[in-house]
Amino acid sequence: MKLYNTLGRKLEDFVPQDPQKVSLYTCGPTVYDFAHVGNLRKFIFDDTLRRSLELSEFKVRHVMNITDVGHLVSDADEGEDKLEKGALREGKSVWDVAQSYTEAFKQDMNLLNILRPNAYSDKPDGYARATDFITEQIGMVQLLLDKGFAYQTKQAIYFNVTKLPSYGELTGQKLSDKEVGVRSEVVTDKEKKHPYDFAVWFFTVGKFEGHSMHWDSPWGDGFPGWHLECSAIIHATLGEPIDIHTGGIDHIGTHHTNEMAQSEAAFGTKLSKFWLHSDFILVDGAKMSKSKDNFYTLKDILDKQYTSLDFRLLALQAHYRSELNFTWASLEAAQNRLNAYMAMADHQWQTSVDEFINPQLIETTQEAILEALQNDLNTPIALEKLSQFESLVSSHGVPQESSARFVAFLQWLDSAFGLDLSTRHDLSGGAKELLMLRATARKDKDWPEADRLRDELQKQGVEVRDTSYGQVWSRV
Ligand code: AMP
Ligand code: ZN
Repeated sequence: MKLYNTLGRKLEDFVPQDPQKVSLYTCGPTVYDFAHVGNLRKFIFDDTLRRSLELSEFKVRHVMNITDVGHLVSDADEGEDKLEKGALREGKSVWDVAQSYTEAFKQDMNLLNILRPNAYSDKPDGYARATDFITEQIGMVQLLLDKGFAYQTKQAIYFNVTKLPSYGELTGQKLSDKEVGVRSEVVTDKEKKHPYDFAVWFFTVGKFEGHSMHWDSPWGDGFPGWHLECSAIIHATLGEPIDIHTGGIDHIGTHHTNEMAQSEAAFGTKLSKFWLHSDFILVDGAKMSKSKDNFYTLKDILDKQYTSLDFRLLALQAHYRSELNFTWASLEAAQNRLNAYMAMADHQWQTSVDEFINPQLIETTQEAILEALQNDLNTPIALEKLSQFESLVSSHGVPQESSARFVAFLQWLDSAFGLDLSTRHDLSGGAKELLMLRATARKDKDWPEADRLRDELQKQGVEVRDTSYGQVWSRV
């Protein structure tokens, strides 16, 4: 398998440290509001990575965090805390805000068929919350202080970037190459020694005096800086160095650079072998973001009668390292494509038995899809191979004798793409019968009968839409 490693900026052969097992850490959401579909693209990318590794017969140990404290709006040390902002907006406590948006996030993950992390079991849902790792984060701050990598001011404890020669290696730009003072943020702590120093612990003083989330520490009451949680969680769950760490491209310069630095300083080991980053979803050429108010959530998509899997397919149509411009027309096109795949999946019981598709074609298609996924998760090429197969199935059908192989292939496709194609054959015999009768009625242009059958199906919880690929059904 080949993956593009941001560290070194090139495609590399992926070989995990343990030949059978892969340790994977994917940076999770900040739960202060609903996720927008740009955020969701990143989690679909993580999921595709995990699925591609599993299809390549690796056992994946996957941990993902939920940021429920400490993430300031600047991603660095300036600005308000996102959770506090959410609490103010909604007149709720920060804990309630974190809990309700964690639930909303999990619902989005379910709707998008995104696999849950599987290597952290202290919480039933498998997500590692930053607030459950406060002791570990305090332990890390202590180590950084003991080793001389951190210093304390009245406002915070900072990581001293000048003490770590490798600081900045993820961007390929060493500290000495950066112009000091170019940061646009206003540095509010006059005692901070270098503009790139970042807080690992904030004290509840000054602008954070009334901060609702705070814990006692050996140095005083406060809360951890955002970057610290990922380092502490990785240390406690997977152990560094891990094989793969992921994030959005906006994480490279600050969040991941700082995670890397503090882990290496505290534990004397690199944090991860591979660093993978996904690009943005844009709207009218600009990054989709909460602050620009140019965002859509999954609910907006569902309200317009698209499905969450239409969006999943839209995301998969672009390579994760390319920008993806979100338009309703592109979502419509993805929906059409998914309709075609669903009609293909229904062929096993909707077409006549004398038609033929060469079983060998299933093998070659499966191999081509896997090859594309193993080439830096090339989902556009993988889907092109699937579409070629789909058009052959649509014109030739699937013979009865290949039916079992075809169903196994649909299951394999679901483990690759998560598009729910294989579960379609679980439909009850009665509903299948009605769908076939309706297809015949439509062919005979008997519209009243087709409408009657549609109503009949609706009563059985099956909704039918007529598309250019024929009738496509879904469960209501
Ligand atoms: P947050 O919940 O703000 O921590 O963001 C969650 C993830 O979404 C991060 O990995 C970001 O890099 C990513 N992200 C934020 N905006 C976009 C966007 N417009 N397109 C794609 N990913 C994004
Ligand atoms: Zn992180």
